[in-house]
Amino acid sequence: MLLKRRQFLAAGAALGASPFLSRPTFAQPRARVVVGGGGWGGLAAARYLRTFAPQLEVTLLERNARFWSCPLSNHWLVGRIDGALLSHDYRAAAQHWGYRFVQAEVSRIDRDARLVVTESERFAYDWLVLAVGIRHDYAAWFGDDHDTIAYTRQHYPSAYTPGAEFPRLRDKLAGFTGGDLLMTIPPQPFRCPPAPYERAVMIAGWLEQRKIPGRLIILDANPPFQEFLRVFREYFPKRIEYHAQMKVLAVDPRRRTVDCEFDRFGFDEAILMPPQQAAGLAWQADLISRGSSWAAVDPLSFAARHDERVFIVGDMIDRVSSLFGHYPKSGQMASRQGRIVARQIAARAAGTVPPQELPDSLCHITTQFDPPAALRIEASYRLRGDGELVQQTKNQRDPQPRGEDLAWAQGMFREFIAPQ
Ligand SMILES: Cc1cc2nc3c(=O)[nH]c(=O)nc-3n(C[C@H](O)[C@H](O)[C@H](O)COP(=O)(O)OP(=O)(O)OC[C@H]3O[C@@H](n4cnc5c(N)ncnc54)[C@H](O)[C@@H]3O)c2cc1C
Repeated sequence: MLLKRRQFLAAGAALGASPFLSRPTFAQPRARVVVGGGGWGGLAAARYLRTFAPQLEVTLLERNARFWSCPLSNHWLVGRIDGALLSHDYRAAAQHWGYRFVQAEVSRIDRDARLVVTESERFAYDWLVLAVGIRHDYAAWFGDDHDTIAYTRQHYPSAYTPGAEFPRLRDKLAGFTGGDLLMTIPPQPFRCPPAPYERAVMIAGWLEQRKIPGRLIILDANPPFQEFLRVFREYFPKRIEYHAQMKVLAVDPRRRTVDCEFDRFGFDEAILMPPQQAAGLAWQADLISRGSSWAAVDPLSFAARHDERVFIVGDMIDRVSSLFGHYPKSGQMASRQGRIVARQIAARAAGTVPPQELPDSLCHITTQFDPPAALRIEASYRLRGDGELVQQTKNQRDPQPRGEDLAWAQGMFREFIAPQ
């Protein structure tokens, strides 16, 4: 600990940064916050840091040139909404709120030196907010066979993280003329658990609408999602072949087969989703909980378990409660955590005690294609007397949705990207 403090003081002096928590004076350079990852969590953190602590210098590092929203992307995949509603300009957001945006892949975090490293630059930080989301654990299927991993990503994309896999999947669907389209659903926990089922409804409805002689085979590693099981049976008995608790044991993407415990499934086209885990930087920076695949945080402050200078938000975080496990891996949850972390850092920079806040989550999921129907899934939190976090969830069916999902997303974008 003593060594770390010395290293910190040395690094701070070398970089010209103040290691103390006092307010900056004219003689002192501004304390620096680096936000890694410009998704729902990172964008909210950057925006609220500028609001709660305008004296801090904030830099957002993101590999993609434009923000892409996974929420509502299932509608976009089958042409029900315009991609312009989901894609936003990072530079405009940075300009509006007054932070610096750098498009770059973060390759490494050096927590001892408090540095974030990209190919062309190194960024010193007083506080780091890490919000890099999830990665697909293809090693669970293919070990270290990198050729097969690359082949699978290219030919059978999950389209579950912002980036090139979304247009690739959309092109593949557009070119699908019939046959068996297979989709695997990874074991829990994973990002937005209702989303693969919503995607199934969208694809099945779209096949029906276009009279494409295709069938969707779903291999779900989990128990059935009852709401969707009903919809699959009622509306798509011939279109969807659904298998619950069907753990994938082996995949051969070139021969187009998937092996489960007792069965082998062939396919003509596929969306192959392996298990998920925290994105690569959490592993590189040694922020993963022991025995888990997710990043260890304090459930209230979102500070990394063993580093008070690092905050972690969004889908990458580990279980937070012995009662309910993980916070829901949802966009609104990530964005609320980003706001909480901004307040935590603002308080620490000012030398005050941060207020206690708890996040919340809201998800609008489409459960039927035509006529449309939706499910509103809400989660809120309270602290029990013994300090344990308690979750309350409310699921509400909406038999006649009127664009509530889009209105919600646009409200969120106005909040953390920029007024439109
Ligand atoms: C199909 C689908 C539908 C969904 N629907 C909903 C919904 O209706 N409602 C809802 O609330 N949630 C929904 N979600 C979940 C929601 O998208 C996630 O919960 C949310 O994106 C999590 O935010 P995040 O900041 O943790 O991660 P992300 O939004 O994924 O952001 C992480 C960012 O980090 C960047 N990054 C990663 N590594 C690096 C690196 N090394 N260097 C630089 N940048 C990096 C990535 O490019 C990305 O932009 C859905 C998800 C999917 C896939």
